[in-house]
Amino acid sequence: MNHKENDLVLPGEILCTYEEYIPSSWTYVEEGFIKASINGRIQINKKEKTISVSSINAPDSLKIDDYVVGHITEVKQNKALVTIKMIKGKNRDLITGYKGYIHISKANEDYISSLHDLFKIGDIVEAKVINIYGPEYIDLSTSQKDTGVIKAMCVNCRKFMKLVDGKLVCECGKVDSRNISSNYGGF
Ligand SMILES: [Zn+2]
Repeated sequence: MNHKENDLVLPGEILCTYEEYIPSSWTYVEEGFIKASINGRIQINKKEKTISVSSINAPDSLKIDDYVVGHITEVKQNKALVTIKMIKGKNRDLITGYKGYIHISKANEDYISSLHDLFKIGDIVEAKVINIYGPEYIDLSTSQKDTGVIKAMCVNCRKFMKLVDGKLVCECGKVDSRNISSNYGGF
């Protein structure tokens, strides 16, 4: 342990070894050490054995369990990348620079083999914040019913698609499917 609770740390500073605590908000693991991903004060939860950084800057606006809205920027087999635009329920846009990802294990309650069937680039999604490892490394989930795609972008013509009888239909004639939220079409 390099520091004690409430110490001020800078991004990249070593907090402790990976064996000592479980990394939580605004921390990341590198070469066996847990490091701070933002400037702030160290918070230790002895009961849950977690270590996190409580930031004095903007990031405390984004918390674990928040619902966020963003758009899909890249889809890999196991991970969909999301640029976060706003926190749901808060009446303002987020400062840019928040990026998250949806891992395949947290995309849907059912077993799926590839995220390519659930998300497409340009889709707008609503997701729940599971963990925050840094401003560009936010762990998101869309396995809740009211999370997932709320606006699907047509792969043919880049227009947003309408939901008709459980299917996504575009005015160009394309019919498609996604990991659709129960809030489809709304914000
Ligand atoms: Zn279309």
